[in-house]
Amino acid sequence: MNEAVVAAGVSKRYGETVAVDDVDLSVADGEVFGLIGPNGAGKTTLVRALTGTTPVDGEITVHGEAPTAVDADRIGLLPQSFSPPARLTARELIDYYGGLYETARDTDEVLSAVGMAAAADSWYETLSGGQQRRVCVGIALVNDPDLLFLDEPTTGIDPAGRQSLWSLLEELADGGTTIVLTSHSMTEIQRLADRVGLLQDGRLVAVGTPAELIESHGGESQLVIDTDQAAAAVDALTDADFAATAGSTEVVVDGVSPVEIGDAVAVLSTVGIEYGSLAWSEPSLEDVYLQLTGETFATAGNADSTTVATPTDAPSPTEAEPQEGAQ
Ligand code: ADP
Repeated sequence: MNEAVVAAGVSKRYGETVAVDDVDLSVADGEVFGLIGPNGAGKTTLVRALTGTTPVDGEITVHGEAPTAVDADRIGLLPQSFSPPARLTARELIDYYGGLYETARDTDEVLSAVGMAAAADSWYETLSGGQQRRVCVGIALVNDPDLLFLDEPTTGIDPAGRQSLWSLLEELADGGTTIVLTSHSMTEIQRLADRVGLLQDGRLVAVGTPAELIESHGGESQLVIDTDQAAAAVDALTDADFAATAGSTEVVVDGVSPVEIGDAVAVLSTVGIEYGSLAWSEPSLEDVYLQLTGETFATAGNADSTTVATPTDAPSPTEAEPQEGAQ
């Protein structure tokens, strides 16, 4: 497969600050590549480097040429901070930016693709932050690029708007557009990206498919059991070879596969331990991010966890086991 973007030994300093530190990276034609990392990790600087908007040390080629030599019609860029003229309507902006290219997509088609058809005739300055961001995405798409750089495309956009923008990006990717995007939303990256690179302090510390990164850095799946008898539950589960640890009102069992949930429940029922809800979660890209950056999220709990049962709907040990001879 041809490479759309290749970076070799790319570094960028601002005075004493090393914003990007010796990064090697390649993005294949048609690939969606997600860049993640904490604030200040170097994502924006790397995107600017790849698009030729800031000079760097090292070598970068885009479609085999220096970024500044590439035909502008082939590349779309949505910078993180982008403020188009505020006293133009969404339609006028798409028209205006379309006019900068030799060929451009139809304005109404772009407005409708980014969900701005209804507010097309409102001044940019009167639009909500999310609507403004959608117009900016439209501007990045107006030349129908085959390589699209999006620096935090969905920041400020409400959940419904994000979902529709994700669908739009998926359609573009299905149509063969190469996309490099940065985001703080691990849900967004896990949904869209074929491969992910994690930047920290300017260095690319991990690259892989979401599944590969989760496999190597995400940790184990967990079953969290609410119970007032945590110590006794841990004893019983440990005797049954589960890796259980006690909190004050819950027990955490590591490495439980979905099919083993019933076994763990059976152990508790056998020794008469009462429990509240059970929540099973598998590792996600968010866990990879936390593991590799050493950061913690302020919010407790795991958004990807699934509550699987309560005492009233939990299967009894006998129900959980396969019934021999059952029809
Ligand atoms: P991210 O996009 O991951 O938040 P940036 O690429 O914006 O990170 O920034 C990386 C580092 O480079 C930060 O320490 C930031 O302060 C610094 N930096 C970025 N742009 C400039 C600039 N124009 N002048 C000086 N320092 C900068």
